[in-house]
Amino acid sequence: MKADYIVVGLGLAGLTFTKELEKNKKSFLVFEDNSQNSSMVAGGVYNPVVLKRFTPVWNATDQLNIALPFYKDLEIQFNKKYDYPVDIYRIFKSVEEQNNWFTACDNQVLSNYMSTKLIKEKYEGVLADFGYGKLLNTGRIDTKTLLEDYRNYLSQNNLIRNESFEYSELKITANGVEYKDIIASKIVFCEGFGLKNNPFFNELPMQEAKGELITINALNLNIDFMIKSAVFVLPLGNNNYKVGATFNWKDKTQLPTEEGKNELTAKLKSVIDVPFEIVEHIAGIRPTVKDRRPLAGKHPKHQNLAVLNGLGTRGVMIAPTVAKALYDHLENRIALDQEISIARFL
Ligand SMILES: Cc1cc2nc3c(=O)[nH]c(=O)nc-3n(C[C@H](O)[C@H](O)[C@H](O)COP(=O)(O)OP(=O)(O)OC[C@H]3O[C@@H](n4cnc5c(N)ncnc54)[C@H](O)[C@@H]3O)c2cc1C
Repeated sequence: MKADYIVVGLGLAGLTFTKELEKNKKSFLVFEDNSQNSSMVAGGVYNPVVLKRFTPVWNATDQLNIALPFYKDLEIQFNKKYDYPVDIYRIFKSVEEQNNWFTACDNQVLSNYMSTKLIKEKYEGVLADFGYGKLLNTGRIDTKTLLEDYRNYLSQNNLIRNESFEYSELKITANGVEYKDIIASKIVFCEGFGLKNNPFFNELPMQEAKGELITINALNLNIDFMIKSAVFVLPLGNNNYKVGATFNWKDKTQLPTEEGKNELTAKLKSVIDVPFEIVEHIAGIRPTVKDRRPLAGKHPKHQNLAVLNGLGTRGVMIAPTVAKALYDHLENRIALDQEISIARFL
């Protein structure tokens, strides 16, 4: 068979790139083997403010301006809800933190996202002696449901093969690539942390950042906003809350661990003081880069091979922007921003 593109991996990177192909009427075939699951387990939160330091996320406004309509289009395509706007309440640990918050509110970018009102209300079960600062224009994308729906749609249209892409079978030709029975003009690799197994791009400096999450049921907790403190506590409805996430820079497995669960439970107990039951425990590896910027671009020798990766901790916001930039680079020769181009490492 012939296709314009082969896409390897269908997490957020693969999905956003494939949508660009659809939009531009390019033919493609996706390979997906479920070897990584970062996008399937992600909290899915989009939030334009770094909540440790009260600084803006890199290019936050531009990213959101592209991301929110992108997810809206998918809601229309599948007639389903994926975007759940939810306020984030940052618990203050001290008066000093309150002051830092209000200083940050003066920043031109941050003022769009940070409320200047100190929230002093008491909410049953939540430990917040110094009150909260509220973020605006934040929410959660249900990435798991979205990916499941998109993969089903690709399956129904024979656009996905649920198998591992075998790198040793790839032939690079004068006009593109050949892989088993497929002849394609280009191939884009979107394997998340699986990039480590890709002989064409595995020299890129990816660091594993394993994350674990638990879902709890807490009958006496009744909040409809997300709390951010030592952990985030994200309401899912029916008294269920997602709680996360850990950061582990050494463990390369995707298995949930006792250690991760204990860490989350201990931190959660510093945020809420009502009983809870753990109903789910999941883990995945965030594809993180040492300079915390995405990885996009063509292979320096083989111009028909490209990569889209390094979405790190904020794939929901960044992926649509970077996918569009890579598409424009490959098809319309628009230069990639140096900050996301893999040329910075090669
Ligand atoms: C615990 C946790 C919480 C997170 N919370 C958030 C959050 O709240 N907000 C946010 O924005 N981001 C969050 N993230 C980060 C986010 O998940 C990532 O930025 C993003 O999902 C990465 O997407 P990706 O497509 O690059 O990688 P992945 O989702 O890992 O997708 C790569 C895909 O490639 C496939 N693949 C790999 N190798 C092959 C092969 N050889 N053949 C076929 N298929 C292959 C894998 O099976 C996988 O489906 C979180 C991550 C974790 C782990």
